[in-house]
Amino acid sequence: MSGLESRKVLVSGAAGFLGSHMCDKLLVEGAEVIALDNFITGHARNLAHLEGKPGFLLIEHDITKPIDVGPVDFVINMASPASPKDYLEFPIETLDVGSLGTRNMLEIAAKYDAKFLTTSTSECYGDPQVHPQVETYWGNVNPVGPRSCYDESKRFSEAITMAYHRSRGVKTSIARIFNTYGPRMKLNDGRVVPAFVDQALRGIPITLFGDGSQTRSFCYVSDLIDGLYRLLLSTEVYPVNVGNPNEITIREFAEVITRLTNTAGTVVYQPLPEDDPKQRKPDITKARTLLGWEPKVDLHTGLLETIQYFQALANATS
Ligand code: UDP
Repeated sequence: MSGLESRKVLVSGAAGFLGSHMCDKLLVEGAEVIALDNFITGHARNLAHLEGKPGFLLIEHDITKPIDVGPVDFVINMASPASPKDYLEFPIETLDVGSLGTRNMLEIAAKYDAKFLTTSTSECYGDPQVHPQVETYWGNVNPVGPRSCYDESKRFSEAITMAYHRSRGVKTSIARIFNTYGPRMKLNDGRVVPAFVDQALRGIPITLFGDGSQTRSFCYVSDLIDGLYRLLLSTEVYPVNVGNPNEITIREFAEVITRLTNTAGTVVYQPLPEDDPKQRKPDITKARTLLGWEPKVDLHTGLLETIQYFQALANATS
């Protein structure tokens, strides 16, 4: 894959978990990065190591308001609250960023003839009735349930991306991201990885929602970013799943965390949140064939890195 020497890339949501790792990758590839974030759910800490680095500029900006940063070669649209806890707290902001925010980013791509990549989600499949999920599946989304602010925001972002491609000729790609984990996740964002690791490290019971038989498939962050980067450089217009097809029940996942943290592993059962998908696993045939991509990091290796990160964070703040 070619590098990005002297190419300018605009990244929205750059202070988020994935956005910040994307900035790192782009800089390694030689790109100049303009990073946007309004810090609603992202954190400046995630970009602190890039402050003052040549080729990196951070602008505090809410992308629901128009912005013009001058000519760019690529636009990567990653801004959105992404954990259920965050988007339930900010449902209107979530809908705004997926709609108005995506549109503003598309306008920049159209103006400067930049390649546009938007980061969509496996939530587009809702509570899927097709398993594993292929990109051609249209999904089973509740349009008025509590998760609808996120699901419909992302589905709208896909629709407007296709509209700009079809009617304005913008070069676009759409990634559907499945559950991803790794360093820089927020400890308190409610997602299962930080929640279970935090509980295990603090020696308190693990909160298992429902009976724990629901499944997810967890992708380590370096694999995910590699997949997104390859998609950025590709010409594929239709959605591509990026995730790890290794499926596990949440009950088994709690056991893995207990083993890796060497803790007692007591569990407390709590009600399953409304519309919590019962199963989720990407079919990544398309990414494999089109991008030559597949995940490399196994769950144990990735989780050990993640646990170390959370441990260091806890030590630094205690
Ligand atoms: N979950 C859980 N306990 C928690 C947090 C999450 O059992 O403390 C479950 C949640 O119900 C879901 C899965 O773990 O089935 C993944 O949840 P997460 O919030 O990480 O993301 P989602 O895949 O639902 O968007």
